Amino acid sequence: MADRSKTLTTGFGMPVDNDLNSVTAGPKGPVLVQDVHLIEKLAHFDRERIPERVVHAKGAGAHGWFEVTRDVTAYTRAKFLSKVGKKTDVFVRFSTVGGERGSADSERDPRGFAVKFYTEEGNYDMVGNNTPVFFIRDPLKFPDFIHTQKRNPASNLKDPDMFWDFLSLTPESIHQVTILFSDRGTPRSYRNMNGYSSHTYMWYNAKGEHSWIKYHFKTEQGIENFAGPEAERMRGVDPDVATRDLHAAIAAGKHPAWRVEVQIMTPEQAKTYRFDPFDITKVWPHADFPPVAIGRMVLDRNPENYFAEVEQAAFSPGNFVLGIGPSPDKMLQGRLFSYHDTHRHRLGPNYHLLPINAPKAAPMASYQRDGAMRFDGNGGGGPNYWPNSFGAPAPDPAYAVPSIEVSGTAARHAITLGDVDFVQAGALFRKVMTDTDREHIVANIVGNLKGAQRRLQLRQTALFYKADAEYGGRVAMGLGLDVNEVKKLAAMSQEDRVKATAA
Ligand code: NDP
Repeated sequence: MADRSKTLTTGFGMPVDNDLNSVTAGPKGPVLVQDVHLIEKLAHFDRERIPERVVHAKGAGAHGWFEVTRDVTAYTRAKFLSKVGKKTDVFVRFSTVGGERGSADSERDPRGFAVKFYTEEGNYDMVGNNTPVFFIRDPLKFPDFIHTQKRNPASNLKDPDMFWDFLSLTPESIHQVTILFSDRGTPRSYRNMNGYSSHTYMWYNAKGEHSWIKYHFKTEQGIENFAGPEAERMRGVDPDVATRDLHAAIAAGKHPAWRVEVQIMTPEQAKTYRFDPFDITKVWPHADFPPVAIGRMVLDRNPENYFAEVEQAAFSPGNFVLGIGPSPDKMLQGRLFSYHDTHRHRLGPNYHLLPINAPKAAPMASYQRDGAMRFDGNGGGGPNYWPNSFGAPAPDPAYAVPSIEVSGTAARHAITLGDVDFVQAGALFRKVMTDTDREHIVANIVGNLKGAQRRLQLRQTALFYKADAEYGGRVAMGLGLDVNEVKKLAAMSQEDRVKATAA
């Protein structure tokens, strides 16, 4: 007999004598049900696919570490940030947003940038994007927004009418649309892009004093993007270009790194700042809140198994540690629910026990019990309720998050900011972009918007015009629209503009 440790077995450990020939009645069959090895092999194969993520389905990931480079204890009591030089293991997953699991890496789309810090006080997840803002600021709009980025329910094709109808009816999207259609919407690789928390979060120190912060992960490889036609070509040449690049770079010892910066705002500044600091459609201008470097993140190890480590990785902006908490940002509040919920659907209620998701540097002691695929000891014979007087894990008031005051009426409050929503998109086009950037963004928009109905072209181009007259004017000319008509639409209220461009 061969070495038992090298013998193929069934999933239950029974040695397999032959893995090439099914058990049949005679050499020509039929196959017998008593071939339990065959049945087990087919049945497991039939169940190999789990639901793909409804967003961020296509991704790549890597392991690495984060090191503190600046003393931030005045702002946060997070242990993993408590000392210059302190290192914490991380796992990072990059992704596109709208595409399916097999979609091309160079699609025009924001990129997900999710970091799991395995801290000694439990796992902390920073679930960001490569853009500092987002399309909408109310989670009630999220499912509708994503539907418009995916496929038409009748044709199963991407549909520029759906895409631009929704965006032109959602003027607060103009800032993110401007970033998406710049060349930053098609990064050359995951190594060559920044990551942003986009949301504002709370940091609080040992005295219970809090600040509001935003994270920026600045690529040390430099920003590099595909121009529109190059990105399009790459979809055919190498649909997995970013996945391949990340894997190859790490395998070759070229470990990608990011400088981690934060912008910090005091609660007093937040009260009087000229726009809502929790509105995710806005950045905090660098001149008002200069980003401060606090650390460095390096990715130095490829996953050994894609499914176990990348596909099963589950992040949530609700995974906080002491010293870090949520802000009132409405979109964030929606995500605090939705991320855990989608993972329960995708991976099951015990997904937090999977090796990639379980805390590595901290104990886990909850009263959650049972559920499908509970594969640890399930709390053994200890109490499964709280309060108990049997010395089982007890809550510790030292971990309380500082109280913040909130007040107001319970209602479906609309936020309609009007012209304020166009200021930062206009500044980006006018002040930040180079001539080449402006040329590219106009061509990228025209190439996509030309597929939509004319009335939608007009409505959306009026929004570009409101951000900046040259921006809107150049898009109008590219689409062959009458610039004066666009200008007239831009001068209207959104309500009147929608009426004037009705079907
Ligand atoms: P700054 O001039 O201080 O900052 C401009 C920032 O824009 C740069 O630091 C860079 O951010 C980013 N940037 C450069 N080129 C592009 C591009 N083609 N597409 C998107 N972003 C680009 O001005 P403000 O802070 O006042 O911001 C002006 C505008 O810059 C904003 O309205 C916003 O659109 C954009 N921006 C601002 C950021 C912020 O946090 N303040 C972050 C990113 C963009 P980075 O260093 O992060 O690459």
